[in-house]
Amino acid sequence: MRKLLRVDITAAGGELAERVEAWLSDRAAQGWEEDAADDGASVRFRVHLEDAPPAREFAEEAARDWPDLPIAVSTIEEEDWGAAWMAFFTPIEIGGVYEILPPWMADHDTGSRRPILIEPKMAFGTGHHPTTALCLEAFATAHQAGWLTPDMRFLDLGTGSGILGIGLCRLGLTGLGVDIDPQAVWCAADNVRLNGVEDGMSLAVGGVGCLAEDSRYAVVAANILAAPLIAMAPRIVSHVAEGGMLVLSGILETQADAVTAAYRAAGLPEPERRVSGEWASLTWR
Ligand code: SAH
Repeated sequence: MRKLLRVDITAAGGELAERVEAWLSDRAAQGWEEDAADDGASVRFRVHLEDAPPAREFAEEAARDWPDLPIAVSTIEEEDWGAAWMAFFTPIEIGGVYEILPPWMADHDTGSRRPILIEPKMAFGTGHHPTTALCLEAFATAHQAGWLTPDMRFLDLGTGSGILGIGLCRLGLTGLGVDIDPQAVWCAADNVRLNGVEDGMSLAVGGVGCLAEDSRYAVVAANILAAPLIAMAPRIVSHVAEGGMLVLSGILETQADAVTAAYRAAGLPEPERRVSGEWASLTWR
């Protein structure tokens, strides 16, 4: 049976627990559990990961970044893990258009909302993180405004779990997801199959550099980070079709001006800015 790694980090409540939470939100986008620790005063953060080298690295990074906190690492059988997940992995509704579900809820009635099934694995993107939700919200708004049509092709740059491309497939579009991390592409392929959108979304390992220079996409989405988005600005803009839509995310609100400036320099007008917590996304259309 598949083994899973369980990492428990215990922190005194208050400001320290908030810092651990912020640390986790950058590294455990698939979510975690938060409970009162045995002493009643501290918080126990519990993360479950597939037992693979990246999970071991996560545990090592936790020990390195939080040398003063008790960290317990154990392996468990997948069965227990499934039960642990089901207890708190709830469907997420986004923009009135999408509902994101784990695979074991595939039969869940989503009503008029379009289901996106995502297996919570190592690749980033279960919809729990604001940066992902901001992109899906931008698609939902564009869909409701009638801007997205099935003849359009998308580029999902930094596809991770494949969630953004799958979301666009759900609106009838077709396109390509790429990621520089082969493991992410592997996860994305699983999710593409799980959602039955193999005909709509192709995948490749790589970044903007692997695209044909003259390829243009009606929708380009990139939820990466401010610094690489700034560095890639001219190349990303060159792949957006005339009159197309560009959605950038993974940007801290404090970095949004710098990203906007880089894309202004690459020829774009002022974007629409969406904010969720400390994160911002930028949308051009
Ligand atoms: N699109 C998903 C995942 C975002 S996480 C979502 O919105 O939830 C960012 C992903 O971008 C990671 O999987 C990472 O491997 C990938 N990535 C980082 N830099 C990249 C680059 N320069 N080109 C392509 N992918 C990149």
